[in-house]
Amino acid sequence: MSVADHVDLEQFMAGVERRNPGETEFIQAVREVAEDIYDFMEDKVHYHEAQILRRIAEPDRVISFRVCWEDDNGSIRVQRGYRVQNNNAIGPYKGGLRFHPSVNQSILKFLAFEQTFKNSLTGLPMGGGKGGSDFNPKGKSNNEIMRFCQSFMTELYRHVGEDTDVPAGDIGVGAREIGYMFGQYKRISNKFTGVLTGKGLEFGGSLVRTEATGYGAVYFMQNMLGTKSDSCEGKTAVISGSGNVATHAAEKVLQLGGKVITLSDSQGFIHDPDGMSQEKIDWVKHQKTVARAPLSEYADKFSGSSWHAGEKPWGIACDIALPCATQNEMDGEQAKTLVKNGCIAVSEGANMPVNLDGVHVFKDAGILYAPGKASNAGGVAVSGLEMSQNSGRISWSEDQLQDQLKDIMKGIHDTCAEYGKGHLSNGGCDYVKGANIAGFVKVADAMLAFGVV
Ligand code: NDP
Repeated sequence: MSVADHVDLEQFMAGVERRNPGETEFIQAVREVAEDIYDFMEDKVHYHEAQILRRIAEPDRVISFRVCWEDDNGSIRVQRGYRVQNNNAIGPYKGGLRFHPSVNQSILKFLAFEQTFKNSLTGLPMGGGKGGSDFNPKGKSNNEIMRFCQSFMTELYRHVGEDTDVPAGDIGVGAREIGYMFGQYKRISNKFTGVLTGKGLEFGGSLVRTEATGYGAVYFMQNMLGTKSDSCEGKTAVISGSGNVATHAAEKVLQLGGKVITLSDSQGFIHDPDGMSQEKIDWVKHQKTVARAPLSEYADKFSGSSWHAGEKPWGIACDIALPCATQNEMDGEQAKTLVKNGCIAVSEGANMPVNLDGVHVFKDAGILYAPGKASNAGGVAVSGLEMSQNSGRISWSEDQLQDQLKDIMKGIHDTCAEYGKGHLSNGGCDYVKGANIAGFVKVADAMLAFGVV
């Protein structure tokens, strides 16, 4: 049997589209990976014969369940919960839970698929999963959040476990929600185990987990710039989002001597040409996670800044950009504008924030461009370290964990660079290809070892 006997990329994608009708985000994520993997597999008949890519693109299982809860008015509300367990070839399923009204099966399948490659890149033994619900936490009282989390975990608990599947936070799920879900898991199972990561420090959480994704995305940026003997120092940064990832990315850019001039939320963006200080970033953190109030109030609070309702920040000139809000928040035209305005490097804090057209714009322009599955892997990496600490019933110090995060991000960067070097038309490094291939090889080889399962 030769490689030529197997379906080509377009036939493969036609099959993916047929089997997953209407799941646009999932199909988009599979295509992005398949474009690179097909090139790489050209002379590797064993991967074709074992149908490895097709198997990775078919989740091990998709669990969907009803979540009933009672709101403060005594009305019964019904939501849908999910857990997508994509692949556990190299370790227990691992990946966040997202609570957002846009959540559906396609988005969670795309995230679980991406997570499989991301977790592989960290070098830690973690498979890929993702879950969540279409529950909208905005405007809900603390008690409503608690009741929802408890009801969600009342079903989820039978599908997860420290050696089976270890969820974490994502959009709409922070320390508060993880606490409520962990409390319910413990109550039902009568076990105190590391079944969730992102826990509070008092009950098995890890230092540095909160900061890890945003900091990691900036470390990746610093590593990319380092290949050009450059750094974040003196660079003007445009960042989207104002949640966990965005605010910590902003903080790290500032610490490394850069200037952050934008942050955003789902209603618009803030432009602060003077740059954001730590005090301003702390205000944003408080505003979004404690006061749970609009970002737009920044413009009233800090003079010289302006609020741009309904817009995204990609039209603001910058040296470096970090999209840290959500998927498909930048299209091809916006990517072109960034490049035209002089942006030399993009590191994704969010998952798939740049659509396929935008990815091709960055690749064609030959700028430094890191895909989220590599550059935002710092969060899950420290989650992996939280799992190790829980298993060993130990806690590592902040310094140890900060060093490990920096080392892991350097390791991911170097691995991507090794597989991606010279693949852009200008001779530059194709980090997307590098991340896809490096993430794939480890999972694929483990699957080959297991035979047809
Ligand atoms: P948060 O919930 O803390 O923040 C999300 C931010 O994105 C908010 O500012 C939110 O604005 C904004 N946002 C949400 N939806 C949209 C939209 N449709 N358009 C514009 N802005 C939007 O989430 P995180 O910071 O944790 O996650 C952000 C991204 O990073 C996600 O893609 C997530 O999957 C990814 N990620 C997160 C990790 C983590 O450790 N937390 C790990 C790896 C990846 P608003 O407040 O108005 O809703």
